[in-house]
Amino acid sequence: MNIKPDNLCQLTSAILVAAGSPLAEANIVADHLVEANLKGHDSHGVGMLPTYVHSISKGFCVPQQHIEVVSQTGSNIIIDAKLGFGQVTGLEAMDQGIQIAKQQGIAVVALKNAHHLGRIGGHAEHVVQQGLISMHYVNVVGHDPQVSPFGGTLPRLGTNPFCCAIPVLDGDPVILDMATSAIAAGKVRVARNSGLQVPDGCLIDHAGNETTDPNVVMQDPKGSQTHFGKHKGFGLALICELLAGALIGGWSSQPDQPRPGTVVNHMLTFILDPEVVGDTVKFATETGALLEYMKSTPTATGVDAVLIPGEPERIALSDREINGITLDTLSWESILQTADRAGLSRDRIETLST
Ligand code: NAD
Repeated sequence: MNIKPDNLCQLTSAILVAAGSPLAEANIVADHLVEANLKGHDSHGVGMLPTYVHSISKGFCVPQQHIEVVSQTGSNIIIDAKLGFGQVTGLEAMDQGIQIAKQQGIAVVALKNAHHLGRIGGHAEHVVQQGLISMHYVNVVGHDPQVSPFGGTLPRLGTNPFCCAIPVLDGDPVILDMATSAIAAGKVRVARNSGLQVPDGCLIDHAGNETTDPNVVMQDPKGSQTHFGKHKGFGLALICELLAGALIGGWSSQPDQPRPGTVVNHMLTFILDPEVVGDTVKFATETGALLEYMKSTPTATGVDAVLIPGEPERIALSDREINGITLDTLSWESILQTADRAGLSRDRIETLST
């Protein structure tokens, strides 16, 4: 199924409204999800809709929920998202952090209890547009773990994303936005739905043997995802779990915590005004020269160009804005079933999607 981005936004928003979300909120969530598809991350795009609608029906995601500032001391702010949509509460939390960082040079934003924050890069882009640097440590709880610690055979962690965005004068920002698992969990779902194998080094079966079969994560006994960079990815995932889970949310992936089958993110964000820690002129000239130096590297066989983090998303965006978003049949069917369950008629779905 190939669909124009605007149509997909309208359909997504209509499904969320039918599920109980007010239109303005549904539009923010729909824009975020479709932007993930546009930027090449189908794992965090509209394929999440069935999960979101299920979460609303079970009270795991609370529509029309806004952040509550629990406390603010100096540059530190603690915020409770109270299970509101991560796309909404995450942006609200970033706005608080931006305001603090502009006054004080730095902000430490502790955001707990957000329903799925989606693509963390979306929150980082919101900050970096203001000329500020942001760093995000995130854990993922509320469901069974998916990723095995390095050397282990059973899942113990979520796919805990890390993101860092750095503004570039007169250029596109550098945005490193990544799961600490070798691939995002949604990419295993997309591969399974599309009948494809995942790349080497991303999955192990229950006995710890490497496999490319995405079905192992659904089987009993269950396989696991693995971390990027072996022990290093595991180490960073654990740091995310400790900073975002144990410290901010008080809710990590350890088994005494609830796993009712939802997606909750806790996120610790550091926002930094480059002006308070460096010479902005030197920062700009040095950054420009360094990125140019990276881009000028001779390429390996089969590689067109050295890319800067954030560039693959911009390349996908310019392609998909013109050529539309292609969804695999199973993902599309599951969106249609979700629309049905939310009470949208087939005629309405047809009108919105064409
Ligand atoms: P990925 O592996 O596709 O990309 C990771 C990073 O590497 C990106 O910044 C990208 O720009 C960069 N990159 C990719 N190819 C590159 C190349 N050839 N050269 C240079 N840089 C390159 O992303 P992922 O790890 O699959 O994560 C996908 C998304 O999933 C992210 O947006 C992440 O925030 C999101 N995520 C969210 C959650 C959650 O719970 N909310 C959990 C896990 C992941």
